[in-house]
Amino acid sequence: MLNLQLDHQSRPDVDARIASGGGEILTVPASADWRELKDRVPQAVQIDVHFESFKDGRGFTLASQLRGRLGFDGRLRATGHVLPDQALHLKRVGFDEVSPDRTDVADDWSQAQTRFATVYQPAQRGGETVVAKRTRSKADLAALNARYRGMEAEEIFEDAIKRIWPGRIAMMSSFGAEAAVGLHMIAKVAPSTPVLFLDTGRLFAQTEQYQRELVEKLDLTNLRIIQPSALEVAEEDADGKLWSRNNDACCTLRKVRPLDRISEDYDAMITGRKRFHGGDRIELPVVERLDGRIRVNPLASWSHERIDAYFKRYDLPRHPLTEMGYASIGCWTCTAPAQDGDVRSGRWAGQSKSECGIHRPVPVAAE
Ligand code: SF4
Repeated sequence: MLNLQLDHQSRPDVDARIASGGGEILTVPASADWRELKDRVPQAVQIDVHFESFKDGRGFTLASQLRGRLGFDGRLRATGHVLPDQALHLKRVGFDEVSPDRTDVADDWSQAQTRFATVYQPAQRGGETVVAKRTRSKADLAALNARYRGMEAEEIFEDAIKRIWPGRIAMMSSFGAEAAVGLHMIAKVAPSTPVLFLDTGRLFAQTEQYQRELVEKLDLTNLRIIQPSALEVAEEDADGKLWSRNNDACCTLRKVRPLDRISEDYDAMITGRKRFHGGDRIELPVVERLDGRIRVNPLASWSHERIDAYFKRYDLPRHPLTEMGYASIGCWTCTAPAQDGDVRSGRWAGQSKSECGIHRPVPVAAE
């Protein structure tokens, strides 16, 4: 943070005085040429750059040159006519402190420094630019997918939870037809991993019962039940039939927004999605970035047969609705038994919708 000094007195000319602890305090106008300061800077412990007008960009350039070209690492202050809106940029070019000629806007200064989190141009100080972040995240993603190529699902769970995102990763689970496999792996690797369960208020009673059964059997110790905001439900779905009028808006209200609200708690989330589910999932990578959020899909390459074998090998309980033909299980209002062996055909059956949006959050306006 920039320090804010409110005792500013105008010192427009080049000036030097001795600091109390030794060394010089230089005062220079924003228009000063850095080359003319070369001999003075080594003795300086503080340099005040004085702005006659907030419009004079030369003070920013000078600060950058003092830091970058002359290697000045003492205290750098901006004095005179500088504005709170310039706080972030002042900080990024290397200023430590401001001493503005207007002292009635102290609150504005402290707020201005946190207003923008994203920067576009490189600077002496001030964090990674958007372009650098995007480049790094693409490289990170490629590296992670390369790292996981050839690894078994259990190893991916272990690596992601213990080494790549320790304490910053959660498992998302619908406690649906195949959920026990991923949850069983979590239980083996780290049973205290947060398990996020979206309770939309429209779940089958059998799902709620199965959730309790699995948590107890697998000894999962960190279940987080995520519910929609009661206020938003009252406002946007007062009659409880939004799902029948606008299922995208309903999923946004009951799934996407509740998950969004807790997403900041985690750097990555594990899902149980698989390529054999078809639709958008056919080319599912093991690690992906959706709207800036990391999803890890350790079971992406698993087949229906492999899932089945895992259930048998570990004697895992089945969701009660699977014996009635349900292969993918969501809200009771929008789920039917699967047709013709197509796992997700029972979700929003007969409609173009195939995903609820939590894996591709797209804000949908309420009705
Ligand atoms: S699956 Fe249906 S009921 Fe559940 S949130 Fe989506 S639209 Fe609403």
